[in-house]
Amino acid sequence: MKIDLKEITVRELTNGYKDNAENGVVGYEGKLDIRPPYQREFIYNDKQRDAVIHTITKEFPLNVMYWAVRDGGGYEVIDGQQRTISVCQYINDSFIVKIGDNFFKFSNLPKDKQEQILNYKLMIYFCEGTDSEKLEWFRTINIAGEKLTDQELRNAVYSGSWVTDAKRYFSRRNCVAYQSGGNYLNGSAIRQEYLETAIDWISEGHIEKYMSEHQHDPNATALWIYFQSIISWVTATFPTYRREMKGIEWGVLYNQFKDTLLDAIKLEKKIAKLMEDEDVTKKSGIYRYVLTREEKYLSIRAFSDNQKRESYEKQKGICPVCKNHFELGGMEADHITPWHSGGKTTAENCRMLCRDCNRRKSGK
Ligand SMILES: [Zn+2]
Repeated sequence: MKIDLKEITVRELTNGYKDNAENGVVGYEGKLDIRPPYQREFIYNDKQRDAVIHTITKEFPLNVMYWAVRDGGGYEVIDGQQRTISVCQYINDSFIVKIGDNFFKFSNLPKDKQEQILNYKLMIYFCEGTDSEKLEWFRTINIAGEKLTDQELRNAVYSGSWVTDAKRYFSRRNCVAYQSGGNYLNGSAIRQEYLETAIDWISEGHIEKYMSEHQHDPNATALWIYFQSIISWVTATFPTYRREMKGIEWGVLYNQFKDTLLDAIKLEKKIAKLMEDEDVTKKSGIYRYVLTREEKYLSIRAFSDNQKRESYEKQKGICPVCKNHFELGGMEADHITPWHSGGKTTAENCRMLCRDCNRRKSGK
C-alpha cells in the first residue's frame, strides 16, 4: 500500500466540477470521481455545509481526505465526499454563506476573499495498492467521518466495467431491480444494499471474491439474469403476496430449492394455516419452514413462567419420565402433544421434565 500526502488547492479541486445527478459528480479537471454514478445523494445539512466554508475562510485546517488512485487512471473520493461537494457547490454559487454580517454567494465575495478561498490548500492522501489492501485501509479510515457503506467501499475498490453496469440495474432510485424485487428486498438501492444482496446470493456469501473475479467483465448481465430468476421463482412458488415476504433470504432458498418440484397450491394452504397459528411467533419464518420443515424457523411460542410454575406444582416436582424429584430451576417445559401434531402452547399441554429427560426426548 502506497500512501502519499499531497496539497491540492480549492482552485484545482473545483476546476471542471460537474454534477450530473444520478450519473455522478466529478471534479479536478474531470479526473476525480467525487460521487460515482448511482451512489447516494448529498446528505450534509446546511449547518455542516456552512461550517466547511467557514473553516476555509478562516484558514483553519479541514481534516485530511482520502482519494483512491484507480488502476485505469483517475481518482475516486473514499473519504471527504460531503466536504468536497460542499466546497464545489459553494464555488459554483449553489448556496450562500454568512461571512461577517452579510450573506454572500461566492461570486459576490470581494476579489481578494475569492482568491483566498481558491488558494486554500486541502490535504489529500492518495492511496494506491492491491484491492484487498485498499479495502482494509478504507474500512479503517471509514470509522470516522462521512461513512460509506460496506458495499460502497467495495464498489470503489473493484471499480470497473462490471460494477458500472451492475449499478445500472441495482443502484438507481426506481431501478429495474427495485421495480421487480422491491417487495421482496430490504434496504435501499442508492445505499447499494440491493447490489450487495444480489452478489451475496449469487456468490453464496463471497462478495469480494466474486467482485474481484468479475471486475473487468464487460457487463453484469449474468448477475441481472440470476436476480430475475430468483424473483420469478418466488412469484411462481408463492403467488400470494404477504408483507412478511419482504426481507427473506430468497436467494439462499432459491439456490437450495430451485430444482425441487414444488406445488404452489399446497404450499399456500400450509402457509395460510401457519399464518393463523398463534404459536408461530415468527411469521416470516413460515416460508423457510414450508420448504425445509425445520421448526426452528417458526420460533414456536414458549411456555410462560406461570404455566411452568403451575405444572411444576401439579407434578409436585417429580419428573414424569425418570420419577425423580427436581427443583424448578432444574426442569424444562415440554409440549405433551408436540406442536407439529397439533399440540398448543397452553397450560393443559404443558409438563415439566428434568433437563436430561427433556434433552433425550428432543434428541438434542
Ligand atoms: Zn427425568
